[in-house]
Amino acid sequence: RLSPLQFKAFSFPGPPMSDALTAVAGEAARRRTFAIISHPDAGKTTLTEKLLLFSGAIQMAGTVKGKKSGKFATSDWMEIEKQRGISVASSVMQFDYREHVVNLLDTPGHQDFSEDTYRVLTAVDAALMVIDAAKGVEAQTIKLLNVCRLRTTPIVTFMNKYDREVRDSLELLDEVENVLNIRCAPITWPIGMGKTFRGVYHLMNDQVMLFEAGQDIADQLVSEVIQGIDNPRLDELFPLEMAQLRMEIELVKGASNEFDLEAFLAGELTPVFFGSAINNFGVREILNALVDWAPPPSPRDASVRMVDPSEEKFSGFVFKIQANMDPKHRDRIAFMRVCSGRFERGMKMKHLRLNRDIAASSVVTFMAHDREIVEEAFAGDIIGIPNHGNIQIGDSFSEGEALQFTGIPFFAPELFRSVRIRNPLKIKQLHKGLQQLGEEGAVQVFKPANGADLILGAVGVLQFEVVAHRLQTEYGVEAVFDPCQIYTARWVSCDDARMLNDFEKALVNNVAIDAAGSLAYLAPNRVNLDLTQERWPKVVFHETREHA
Ligand code: GDP
Repeated sequence: RLSPLQFKAFSFPGPPMSDALTAVAGEAARRRTFAIISHPDAGKTTLTEKLLLFSGAIQMAGTVKGKKSGKFATSDWMEIEKQRGISVASSVMQFDYREHVVNLLDTPGHQDFSEDTYRVLTAVDAALMVIDAAKGVEAQTIKLLNVCRLRTTPIVTFMNKYDREVRDSLELLDEVENVLNIRCAPITWPIGMGKTFRGVYHLMNDQVMLFEAGQDIADQLVSEVIQGIDNPRLDELFPLEMAQLRMEIELVKGASNEFDLEAFLAGELTPVFFGSAINNFGVREILNALVDWAPPPSPRDASVRMVDPSEEKFSGFVFKIQANMDPKHRDRIAFMRVCSGRFERGMKMKHLRLNRDIAASSVVTFMAHDREIVEEAFAGDIIGIPNHGNIQIGDSFSEGEALQFTGIPFFAPELFRSVRIRNPLKIKQLHKGLQQLGEEGAVQVFKPANGADLILGAVGVLQFEVVAHRLQTEYGVEAVFDPCQIYTARWVSCDDARMLNDFEKALVNNVAIDAAGSLAYLAPNRVNLDLTQERWPKVVFHETREHA
C-alpha cells in the first residue's frame, strides 16, 4: 500500500521548479485540461459548480446553475435545452487551483449529441466520470467511456450522491470494472450512506474526512479531518459503526487495485472517489487528483510532424463551433485548443485551410461565467475566436507552418431527413442557415448532385429538433423535415480523378456535397452500398471525414 510520501512522488511537476524550463514549457506543464462526462442527472452540473466553488473561481454556488438567482447554468445557453433540461452546448471553464490552471469542458450528456461530445474529448487530456451511486453504470456512461477509450484518455471516477441510499460500494466498483472494462483503484472509501453517511476514509493518506451537509459558500468548505483509521476519536463519534468499518476497509484494501499512475495514464485504471456533489463533499479530493495525476498537455499529431506543447511558436485546432452562446453576442465562436506556444492578444495567426492571416484581437476565454478577453494562452487552454462563418471544425492555426492536427472527425450519419420549406421565398435563408449549421457540426447537410431537396444527416434525432428550432429563431425559416430513403452516407475519394468524375456521373442520384464541400455517397440500403463498393473498387468509401 502506498504511503503519503509515495503519493506525493507520483505528482507531475507543477510550475517550473528549475530554470531549465522555458516560460512556455512551464505554463504548458501546469495546465490540466479535462472533460466531465456522465449519464444525464448523475450530477455533472452540480459537480462542475462545486469544482468552481472549491477553486475559488466563484464565491457562492448558484452562480453557474442559478437556482437562487433564477439564471441558467453556463452550459444552458440554448432555448431548447432550457425546454428539455438537457445540455446541448458544451461549455468551457477555466480556473486556477493550487499552482495549476485548470480547463474544464462540459459535454452534452444526451446521446444524440455524441458526435459533439467526441470532438470535445479530442481537446482534453483527461476525463472526470460522474456516476450516480444509486443507479450505477448507465447507458450513456458506457457510450462516453467507449469514446474515451478510442483515445486512451485517463479517467477519474466520482461516485456521487452518498447522502442518499445508494448501492453497495463494492458492487459499484465491480460493475465499473466489468461493464466499462477498466480497473478501479478506490482512493477514498465511503463510511455509510444516506442518513448514516459519516464521511470518507482516504486510503492513501489514512485520514477520515467527516461528512457535513454542505454550505454553498466558499469559505465554509472545510470538513473535519481525523488522522488514522484507528484514532479513538472515531470510536467516540461512531461507537457502533467503527468495528464494522475497519473490517470493511481491510477487505477493500485487500480486494481492490492499488493506484498505479502508468495504468491510469494508459486509460486502464481509474482512481475512484466517493462523495456528494451537492454537499460539496469529496470534491476537493477530485481536484487534487486531477492536478496531481492527470497529465499535462502532451505532443499532438499535426500530420507533417508531432507538435510539442513547449514549442515557442503558437499552434492550435478548432474542435467545436457554437452559435448564440450569448444573446448579446450574436456571432459564432470557434473553440480552439491551443497545442503549443504562447497565444497573445492581437497576435497574427494563420488560418491554414484558407491560408489567411487573422488578427486575433477579440479572442475570448471562458472564466466560470463570463467571457473575457484573453491576454495570453498556452497549450491546454481553450480560446474562443468570434467569426462569421469562415472557420470550420478541424481547422488548424499556426504562426505560418503548414500544420494539420488530426483526429477531429465527422461521423457518417445514421438518420436522414429531406428538407422542405413552407415559404419558397425563404429559400436563400434556408440555404444560408443550413450551411452555417452544417459548418458548426450541429447537423450534416448534403446537397444532392441531381438538385433535389437538401438532405440532413444526424447521429441522434434530437439534432433535427435543434436545427428546426434554430432555423426558425435565427433565420426566420419554417422548415419541414420529411423521412427519406437513405440508409447511410459514405464520404468518397479516389486517386484517379477521372474515375471519381465517372462515379459522380453514373451515380448522380446518389451523390451529394456536404457543408465542407466533400463528396459523399448516400446509400438507400445496405445491399446497395455493398454492390456499389464492389462495382467501384478503386473508389474509397469513408465512414468518417476529418478535414475538407
Ligand atoms: P446532470 O444532468 O448530470 O448535470 O445532473 P445535475 O447536476 O443537474 O443533478 C441532477 C439532480 O441530482 C439534481 O436534482 C441535483 O440536485 C441532484 N444531485 C446532484 N448531486 C447530488 C448529491 O450529491 N446528492 C443528492 N441527493 N442529489 C444530488
